[in-house]
Amino acid sequence: MRIAIDGPGGSGKSTISKILAKKLGLIYIDTGAMYRACAYVSLRFDLHGDALKEFINNAEIDFLQDDGTQRVSMLFQGSEYDLTEAIRTPQVSAKVSEVAADKRIREILTKKQKNLASRKNVIMDGRDIGTVVIPDAEVKIFLNASVDERSHRRYTELKEKYPDISYDEVKDDLMKRDETDIKRETAPLLKAEDAVEIDTTGLSVEEVVQEIMKTVKKKRAAGENI
Ligand code: C5P
Repeated sequence: MRIAIDGPGGSGKSTISKILAKKLGLIYIDTGAMYRACAYVSLRFDLHGDALKEFINNAEIDFLQDDGTQRVSMLFQGSEYDLTEAIRTPQVSAKVSEVAADKRIREILTKKQKNLASRKNVIMDGRDIGTVVIPDAEVKIFLNASVDERSHRRYTELKEKYPDISYDEVKDDLMKRDETDIKRETAPLLKAEDAVEIDTTGLSVEEVVQEIMKTVKKKRAAGENI
């Protein structure tokens, strides 16, 4: 079974995907982490446009399970770099949507993601999974929540690592990213026509998981072999 989960930042995609992956025996692939890895490389080595494209084309992005946490690493010219923490900084967050709007970068990552999805037992989250990466996914979900709720969730997460960060900065970053992700020309953030939309504002994690499980069970009851 392939599950596609899309939605804006802070809508709960990664928390929910990790739980569903465990419950249903699926491999979780966080495509946002792949775009973040590109943004990190761009900032770290001052690479842009074709030079960044060239680098990413020759690099491999890997996901490793480590005691419940997922580690993200990049293999480049025979060396492996663990980017798990580096891709979550406010600097990378502020840069990532610009990099993700570049057609050349999307082309490479979409190809890598389609390859990963061909394993058949995956839950993938992002912005264009149900529309572009796995348009034939058996289950498609679009998660959403009010901008205030999404900002609060992100702020609570980030505050632990960055005590100086303010709520307004976090909200501002989320809103800017939403705007760039929705307005970009290639593969914008969009609900697939056949996706089930869930507004997670005020819902607990368990309630959202149950809601998605209903869709999975309905498909199974309808005789779909998933
Ligand atoms: O999911 P996360 O918030 O970590 O994603 C970071 C950014 O990566 C998004 O704001 C978006 O610009 C980009 N992205 C994308 N397509 C995806 C996943 C993420 O454009 N499938």
